[in-house]
Amino acid sequence: MSDLILFWHRRDLRIADNTGLALAREQSPQVVGVFCLDSNILERDDVAPARVTYMMGCLQALQQRYAQAGSQLLILHGEPVQAIPHLAETLQAKAVFWNWDVEPYSQIRDRAIMESLKAKGIEFLTQNWDQILHAPEEIRSGSNTPYTVYTPFWKNWISKPKAQPVATLENTAGLTEKQQELAKQAGAIALPTAKELGFVWDTDLIISPGEAAAQEKLEEFTAKAITEYQEQRNFPAVDGTSQLSAALKFGVIGIRTVWQATTAVLEDCNSEEVTTSIRTWQQELAWREFYQHAMYHFPELAEGAYRDIFKSFPWENNEEHFLAWCEGKTGYPIVDAAMRQMNEIGWMHNRCRMIVASFLTKDLLINPQWGEKYFMQKLIDGDLSANNGGWQWSASSGMDPKPVRIFNPASQAQKFDPDAEYIRQWLPELRSIDTEYLVTGKITPLERRAVGYPDPIVDHKKQQQQFKLRYQQQKGGKE
Ligand SMILES: Cc1cc2nc3c(=O)[nH]c(=O)nc-3n(C[C@H](O)[C@H](O)[C@H](O)COP(=O)(O)OP(=O)(O)OC[C@H]3O[C@@H](n4cnc5c(N)ncnc54)[C@H](O)[C@@H]3O)c2cc1C
Repeated sequence: MSDLILFWHRRDLRIADNTGLALAREQSPQVVGVFCLDSNILERDDVAPARVTYMMGCLQALQQRYAQAGSQLLILHGEPVQAIPHLAETLQAKAVFWNWDVEPYSQIRDRAIMESLKAKGIEFLTQNWDQILHAPEEIRSGSNTPYTVYTPFWKNWISKPKAQPVATLENTAGLTEKQQELAKQAGAIALPTAKELGFVWDTDLIISPGEAAAQEKLEEFTAKAITEYQEQRNFPAVDGTSQLSAALKFGVIGIRTVWQATTAVLEDCNSEEVTTSIRTWQQELAWREFYQHAMYHFPELAEGAYRDIFKSFPWENNEEHFLAWCEGKTGYPIVDAAMRQMNEIGWMHNRCRMIVASFLTKDLLINPQWGEKYFMQKLIDGDLSANNGGWQWSASSGMDPKPVRIFNPASQAQKFDPDAEYIRQWLPELRSIDTEYLVTGKITPLERRAVGYPDPIVDHKKQQQQFKLRYQQQKGGKE
């Protein structure tokens, strides 16, 4: 048995502030990274080319980081349940370390790998948390149950002290030449490109891959935009949010590092307004954790509605309407602009995610799971917990107690895109139309025809009544 510890990266594509990796380095002078391109994930039908392209760029950057630290990042492709134990056995590794995850699939897969390593007599250290500031077991209600409502969760979560960033990996021995040869025999390959894996994305990514770019984005955001976040975060035409979601999804930046940056600006600020803005951004980080804890405690969320009345809701599920929604051709400018933004750049502003999700479920009466899947097929930051949480919130099918939340596209546009800047940016065919008509959606049929823009596929007023009616009928005595 050698000194070698293999560190298996999954959603922690960095060497700075990585809890499991820092523990591995404390226990061994020879730490080598490994990433497995998991065929069970990559072969699913909800994988976004933008997301894979970002991930592959991050892996390339991670390989460089390992080289700087004196070691290597090995790449495997296949089923981790076979590939990881086989590599560890071939290299006679002392142990395999990784950080634990909240997702149901990861937990089943990881337990199988632990069994396999155990059978081979290889140690493992796996159940440490890295991607969240507090473990799911740490944040529990007075009656010792997981929270199902955000506000009390937040109060408890923010009251707890947060850990500092952990040490960056440095000065570690890598594989010897002989071990490198053995790694190849055990399936280690050169890092493929996203295209080689069948994912084509030729548009600029909203965030450049790698640790340095994520750190830069964090610094840029905390230098200014965070101080105006409260006011600016709801306007999709403004660059008022951090755009760190993909980096947080893949752990390209450590959550403790992010938290430390927010507390540093909080300490420096002396205005109530700025304090509120920073707190509001911290609350978004808490939403992220709330949904991750929810997924951990209630894995059934991944399968569909949480509330009983939505488990058998009579959705209309009109496929033509769904297609129009996907393509940004519903005839509702704010909805279409948002969908085109996502289709074109692989990211959508949060306000618009709420608008289009409400529209799909409450106006088109389409099962939120269709929308949830489409988002996963497009988003660079597509993440099971956050996406599922957002969809369940918008569909009113989740744990949130407020039952029916219906967004009116026109009032949302009037409030959050008052100059129709966002609408014009993503629907160039409507640029010449008056702002008032763009935000209210009251573009005449003649004008629509002239610029090739569709008529509204449904009537918002009628549809929301229809939704409420079905909701009441469905509710009949059940809640
Ligand atoms: C229907 C719907 C689907 C969504 N799908 C996803 C998804 O797949 N992946 C994803 O990361 N976020 C998702 N969100 C949450 C949110 O829209 C994005 O996190 C946010 O728009 C990303 O932009 P940002 O990094 O500039 O966010 P900022 O406003 O700068 O927020 C900072 C970070 O907090 C987290 N965050 C912010 N809002 C939320 C939220 N409501 N729920 C959970 N985490 C949040 C993200 O990690 C984000 O990067 C979804 C929201 C809705 C309504």
